[in-house]
Amino acid sequence: MPSAHRATLRPAGLELSEVEFTFGSSFPHPRERAIREGYGFEIELPAVLDLLTGIDDGVLKAGDVKDLLLHVVDGMYPRADCWRYESDEDKLAWCRRDGTCQTCDRHRDAFAKSLALAAERWRRWTLPDQYPYATGNAKGLHEVGCHILRQGMPQEFSPPAADDAEALRSFAHQKDAYDRPPTGLKPSYHVPFHAMTTAETRAWMERNTGPKGGRYYHRCERCAPTP
Ligand SMILES: [Zn+2]
Ligand SMILES: [Zn+2]
Repeated sequence: MPSAHRATLRPAGLELSEVEFTFGSSFPHPRERAIREGYGFEIELPAVLDLLTGIDDGVLKAGDVKDLLLHVVDGMYPRADCWRYESDEDKLAWCRRDGTCQTCDRHRDAFAKSLALAAERWRRWTLPDQYPYATGNAKGLHEVGCHILRQGMPQEFSPPAADDAEALRSFAHQKDAYDRPPTGLKPSYHVPFHAMTTAETRAWMERNTGPKGGRYYHRCERCAPTP
């Protein structure tokens, strides 16, 4: 979303109040450069003319005006959420260089939740007597011993540590990919089935049954679970 911003410019001896800038409405290709160097920013023409008049009159130096405008861009960068407009490759490279980044910050909680969910699913999977039934994303209901389910489950569970920067990075940057469509790739620690107690399974079946008795899930024909 393009955004509008105002800044009062005070180059030597002059004051231009409330100068209007916009970010994100145009990215002119012939002058492509880094966002930090002004790419994607626009400034109102009357202010430009006043700055040029100041240079003409000998009050200002062109180099100072340039530095001033770049300084304004720096100040607007966070407010205009310019980070979102940076390329995926740049964001990833800067994140590796700096150890973390805004993208990682934004998805830190979701990463922790996905780890916790996977750990809980795996815990349940290792206790088949307590959690004898399971469902996956396709809303199939199985017994945990079912061949179909066993084929879909990982052989072992070795999730990254919650503070593993590289694991967070690959989770977050994929979620945040701006230029590319989501790949749908699951993290390596993904556990596809959620095992349930008999009581949980009955409640789940009830939640997934319509008012006229229609089922929003399917009962596996192979293992034919009867909770
Ligand atoms: Zn990052
Ligand atoms: Zn089954």
